[in-house]
Formats: sequence, structure tokens, C-alpha cells
Amino acid sequence: MKLEKIVECLKLLGTQNIQAHKRTGWVISRCPLEHWRHENGHSGPEVFGVRIEAGDPAVNCFACGWHGTLGSLIIAMRHMNKQACHVDAKWGQALELVDEAEKAIEFDFDSPGIEEMLFGPKEGRHYFPEWWLDSFPVWHEIGWAVDYLAERKVPAAVANALDLHADTKEKRVCFPVRDFNERLVGLHGRAIQSGVDPRYRMYTQAGKNNPLYWLGESWVDLTKPILVVEGPFDLASAYRVYRNVVSPLFSNPSFEKLRRMADALEWITFLDRGKGGDAGRSKVDKFLQEDHVIHHLQPPKGRKDPGVCSPEEIAELLSGIVKLDDLLLD
Ligand SMILES: [Zn+2]
Repeated sequence: MKLEKIVECLKLLGTQNIQAHKRTGWVISRCPLEHWRHENGHSGPEVFGVRIEAGDPAVNCFACGWHGTLGSLIIAMRHMNKQACHVDAKWGQALELVDEAEKAIEFDFDSPGIEEMLFGPKEGRHYFPEWWLDSFPVWHEIGWAVDYLAERKVPAAVANALDLHADTKEKRVCFPVRDFNERLVGLHGRAIQSGVDPRYRMYTQAGKNNPLYWLGESWVDLTKPILVVEGPFDLASAYRVYRNVVSPLFSNPSFEKLRRMADALEWITFLDRGKGGDAGRSKVDKFLQEDHVIHHLQPPKGRKDPGVCSPEEIAELLSGIVKLDDLLLD
């Protein structure tokens, strides 16, 4: 399906923020299914992609995990809209465009994966120099970072163990990402003020980053059960109780990313309550199938994510599955 036709089709579905990136091989937008599949009916501005390829093109929502083809998306969306009407879309015309593309003979683009498209090329992994990280002050040197971490109940012992830094220009608390060999491969910064977009920044260095690495690779022990949480603050929270915790840094990681942790034979997922977490849980099930032991834990009622759970709550969930570490409380 040609780029122009994909854009036209997304418009017929009422999709917002459509951006065509011919060079990358994808058309990006908000998720067309945001009204039904995203918290509060809103997806991020660039979470959804349609691959520019021959026939009925592949589509993927990076946030809610919906994937299939554009044709199957239209059918699914029409069905959802029948159950709960949110959009006034031109279903027939949109499906016709897909039909036309299926009949047409087009050039097949060699398209990159969506993570690569969204976050830069993964080829030739890029090691970040240590001096670059040193240009960000350590968390305890910066007053607002100390206050923010206290507010998020991250004890100093955890902030030190995770080697947190501060971006004083953008006011972000930053988590260095190191690979299995402890080489610096990334930096994730959480904005401390609400309403800042993006809430998390994946920093680039010399124009490059490495979206495939997990936070926690440098300390994880793959012979023990791994605790898989969604984001850095979930990790900081769980780390108080159990150190063998890792985060893919996205709620819905690709199979390629999951594969990096596949040597761990026992997985405990501890993802958010709600739709994003559900998508992550089913992705892990699908990926690991029967070769691994899998437990799915969810925050107790009234707690949205592991980041807001108390150490006692996390300990209770984990007890009976793993041997807990000594509590880190200050
Ligand atoms: Zn979505």
C-alpha cells in the first residue's frame, strides 16, 4: 500500500497526528484504537505505526500492543465502535483502499522494525562514554532531585545503587542503562514536573541510542527468578525488596527485546494494573510459552503500579515465590 493511500486511510478512520516518514518506511500516528484500548481514551502522539509495504500493510501499536494488518484493524475498530461509539469513520472507503492495495503490485520496501524507527537505528551498538554521564550531576548534589526521590519513596541506598543522576537543564532524574558487561548504553530521564512531554526521555549521545537494552542487565542474575517491571520507578520501588529486578523501559517490548532476558528460566511479571499491563502480560506469555516458569503479579487494589506500592506490599506479593533480599529503607 502506498504511503499516500495509508495516510488517506488513517484519515478516513479519524486518526490523529498522522506523520509520513518515507525514509523510515513507516507512517506514524496516535493509536486509532485509543478510545477503546488506552487509559482515558488517549494514546501517546507517536505510538502507532503502519508499515509502508505491498498489499494489506502491517500495523503495530507500541503502547497497547495491538498488531495485525490495516484491513484487520479497520474491521476490529468498526466492531469496537459498534459496542461503544466514539468515531464517525468512513469504514467502507477505508476498506476499499486496502482492497485496492491488495490487488495492486507494489514495490516491497525493506522496512525497519518499529522500535528502530521510533528510537533510531539499532545497528552498530553505541557505547556512551563515561565522561558524558559524568556531565550529569549525581542525584544527591541537586536539591530538587533529592526532594523528588524522597517524595517517590526512593531511599538513598537505592538511588546510589542505581547510580541516579540529574539533568539540571530539563529537570529530570536520570537512570543509566548498562549492558550485561556493565558498559554504558543509555540514559533514561524522568521529568519531575507533571505535564512535561515526553515524561521519559531516552537520551541520545552523538545522535545515537540503544533501545534494545534493559535497565538492570548489569546486575541481574539470570540463574535466579527475574522480576520484570515496567518503568524505572517501578524498578526502584521493587529494588528495596528484591534486587533481581529488571525493566524493559517500555510497557510493550518487542520479542527481540524480550529475547535478551530469555536465559532467565523463571519470570515474575509485576506490571501495572489495567490495559497496558494486560498487553504486557499476554506478550510475555506468548513469548515464553511453556519453556519457562511464569508468575504474573499485580499491584494490590487501589495501587496503580509497583512504583506506588510500599515495600511491605511488594514483599507480601513476592513471598512464597522468591527469597527476599534485606530491606533497603534509607
Ligand atoms: Zn494502541
